[in-house]
Amino acid sequence: MFQLEKTIRTNILALKPYSSARDEFNGKDGIFLDANENPFGNLNRYPDPYHKVLKEKLSELKNSSTENIFVGNGSDEVIDLVFRIFCTPGKDKVIVCPPTYGMYQVSANINDVEIISIPLNENFQLDVEKILKTKAKIIFLCSPNNPTANNLENIETIIKKFNGIVFVDEAYIDFSTQESLLHKVNDYPNLIVSQTLSKAWGRAAIRIGIAYANKQIISYYNKVKPPYNVSQINQHEAINAFDDTETFTKNIKTILAQRSWLEKQLSSLSIVERIYPSDANFVLVKTINANAIYQKLVEEKIVVRNRHSVVENCLRITVGEPFENVKLIDSLKKIEL
Ligand SMILES: *Cc1c(COP(=O)(O)O)cnc(C)c1O
Repeated sequence: MFQLEKTIRTNILALKPYSSARDEFNGKDGIFLDANENPFGNLNRYPDPYHKVLKEKLSELKNSSTENIFVGNGSDEVIDLVFRIFCTPGKDKVIVCPPTYGMYQVSANINDVEIISIPLNENFQLDVEKILKTKAKIIFLCSPNNPTANNLENIETIIKKFNGIVFVDEAYIDFSTQESLLHKVNDYPNLIVSQTLSKAWGRAAIRIGIAYANKQIISYYNKVKPPYNVSQINQHEAINAFDDTETFTKNIKTILAQRSWLEKQLSSLSIVERIYPSDANFVLVKTINANAIYQKLVEEKIVVRNRHSVVENCLRITVGEPFENVKLIDSLKKIEL
């Protein structure tokens, strides 16, 4: 049986978090002489450490409670903090299922946490049996998965049976036919769902990552986070993004239509062997020679992601604007190997 308190690092259980000036008094009006800020200017005040307005917007939009939401400085921070909360350096282990997003491994390395690698099978699906036989503090699942682009199956089986935290990275969920797990965070004591403003929301520049989890887990996130982890400008831009769901919906529609177009065009090329089915805003393409094609495209000033080192002869191609996709296909058509 999963027990949160037994999974948290003991030093974090005991941690007395930093108390900022704005923690002790958080009323709106007043003369603020408590934080050694400069009284002049309009970016002179520290931002809201709890991202209150942003979380209220999100809770409306996602039909979730603000208690179940943590806002981080990009998914990087959401991932890094999960190591800090749960993993003792040099002692604890986490599971990753490659080929997948590289940050789980990098973050594990930074935090001196051992990685158990349980690769996806030939259909890019999880090895459920092996995962459930393995002891670890956290398992990182990415669905739709980067770079394979597919939805993972059996995630809920793992959540129910794995005796550790299940971190589900839903960076690409808004492009997917699969439903988000965020509404199940109160059903499972060990589930963390991570989303981002960097992809479907079109706000990679403002570095906003979000974790959804039960309120106990969220309280630990708040305990370990840097006090003012999201700038006021970024909070403001995130709120603006959420106020414009029309653009969001329109862009997703365009991207998905462009993805179909790209898939069709790519499938007619002789240098392409296979296009893996995508539930994201990119396609993974098996070619006859990924390194050579990558180089030829760079010469045309077109940059795709060469994933040859992780999936043989594969390129990961992000769906661009229509004119960019046309240019890509034109360039690929000219390549002779
Ligand atoms: C792009 C991506 C992210 C986004 O990371 P940010 O730090 O929020 O920009 C997260 N997870 C995966 C799997 C991604 O591919």
